[in-house]
Amino acid sequence: MSDRFWLSRTGTHELIHQCFADAEASYEDARYALFGVPYDGTTSFRPGARFGPRAIREASFNFESYDPSTGIDLYEVPMIDLGDLVVSKVPEGLVGQVADVVGDLAGDGKVPVMLGGEHTATIGAVRAIRPDVYVVCDAHLDLRDELDGTACSHGCVTRRVLETVDEIVIIGARSGDREQFEIADEMTGLYTADIVRERGIDVVIGEILGEVEGRRVYLSIDADAIDCCLTPGLGTPEPFGMTPLDVREVVRAIAPHAVGFDYVEVAPFDSGQTAAVAAQMVREFIARHWTAGR
Ligand code: MN
Ligand code: MN
Repeated sequence: MSDRFWLSRTGTHELIHQCFADAEASYEDARYALFGVPYDGTTSFRPGARFGPRAIREASFNFESYDPSTGIDLYEVPMIDLGDLVVSKVPEGLVGQVADVVGDLAGDGKVPVMLGGEHTATIGAVRAIRPDVYVVCDAHLDLRDELDGTACSHGCVTRRVLETVDEIVIIGARSGDREQFEIADEMTGLYTADIVRERGIDVVIGEILGEVEGRRVYLSIDADAIDCCLTPGLGTPEPFGMTPLDVREVVRAIAPHAVGFDYVEVAPFDSGQTAAVAAQMVREFIARHWTAGR
């Protein structure tokens, strides 16, 4: 059997569907449960994030199973790719679906790893996990109370999370209206993209680690946290952002404390950079979490 695809058999024919590379454990054995949310229903600028999960899976096969920085082979890590959620068209419905799935996975002792799709899905994941701390990398504050008639827009994610999580850390932000920045200053730990550049990501991470020690963290990476000149496959591209290495440092540092992870907002209409970075971040998260847990 090819290690690249799930195979199922009907009569004499084999049918294949693609999963994330090396994610071939049984559900019972899996510590990590990947799934895709191919949804971009509230996208405000440029649609396409619905194609993100597929692009991330395809990109994952470009990489060696061996991760030299941790010394583990990803194929030895028990992970499963459950496929894509059949998504509701209604944003509130989508959030409920994700909350159900993530609740089931967490209840079965799995670490959920969600591939987006737009950021809206994160509202459901956080609702199910109820972490102590929410850490997000995002160009946008996502602190609108409502956008285009829904409270479950991709522009309202952090605002909804504020309603269930006491502590929020935002890294890499550089876009939001005055009201959102006032809320962020008052209610969150905000490290703008300029602060990351001025202080350096190591200093920023050092401060955050002091806060998250011993606590349950949910880590969400909105792909547009990274400068759009580097990874342009985005629904709402913003320049002057973080580098992929900055975000990788966040993933490496926070993964050992995380109870859930997502990488969202990949709209893969570029030369493959955005999905390639996303696939590597997923691998980084799993490798670091697994290594820390043993
Ligand atoms: Mn976002
Ligand atoms: Mn964003």
